[in-house]
Amino acid sequence: MLKLTYSDYKSLRAHGEETYPHECCGVLLGNSAPDGNRVRQIVRAGNTRTDSAHNRYNIAPEELIRIQRQARGLGLDIVGFYHSHPDCPAQWSQTDFNEAHWVGCSYIITRVDQGKAAVTNSFRLTGTNEEDKQFIDEPVEIAVDGVGTIGPEESSIEFKQQEREPA
Ligand SMILES: [Zn+2]
Repeated sequence: MLKLTYSDYKSLRAHGEETYPHECCGVLLGNSAPDGNRVRQIVRAGNTRTDSAHNRYNIAPEELIRIQRQARGLGLDIVGFYHSHPDCPAQWSQTDFNEAHWVGCSYIITRVDQGKAAVTNSFRLTGTNEEDKQFIDEPVEIAVDGVGTIGPEESSIEFKQQEREPA
């Protein structure tokens, strides 16, 4: 299960419309929980692939490190990634699978048809290493902002304060 707010859901889909006919990509920041990853914030990333940006995506390692550092400062982790498939199904490709290395993370793919976001799917990378990793279909739960599963008492600010308390 992947949980994200409606505004983040809308934003990552809009990103794919903006970059059409090229792929967009970004990072999902949040917290891992036994019942699934919870997205608290999404970060748009630049697509560094210039050779074939319509069907390949890549986030520069330096950019990923910077995003991870910022996330830690907010008490968040990288819980997934998203990208778009211009005029292609919202299913992972062999290349997506080969380039997925973050076990436990959610990989969101949005199909964008003629510049309009269509289906959005999520796949969780499971396994323990490169040899036995696999993608499994992951249900997505969209929460209305500020209501439902993501309440104000669970904001990143609260997490930060908890971390600072002496053990
Ligand atoms: Zn892809």
